[in-house]
Amino acid sequence: MAPLPFPDDGISTRNEGLRSLARYEPQGEQEVPTPNIEPTPAPPPPSPVYWCGPAPERCDSCRLAVRDRFFDARTVKGPWGILCWPCHENPAIGLGKLGPGFGQQYDRQPDGRFLKTAG
Ligand SMILES: [Zn+2]
Repeated sequence: MAPLPFPDDGISTRNEGLRSLARYEPQGEQEVPTPNIEPTPAPPPPSPVYWCGPAPERCDSCRLAVRDRFFDARTVKGPWGILCWPCHENPAIGLGKLGPGFGQQYDRQPDGRFLKTAG
């Protein structure tokens, strides 16, 4: 039996282990495999809401003509009404808020209908 090239004292084995570690170098940015999970479908966009019936002609408060925007909104006194923007923002008349219980904003579209755009 031929003699071993190196004494089998365990050192060369350990060195081999260190060389193995030295070869294990990070290879830069590694792409992490993405788990195959179905993406959560986005909720469908809300369907547009248009003002029903004939468009209001005048602000219920100041009686100025409604042009391209009005608010169907609650007033500080409680009742709801058609308000122009200045009246809606006037703290003596409107609440200046939109949303359930406060009001909705409608904007005239190119086809002449009023689309709910806020609230
Ligand atoms: Zn007004």
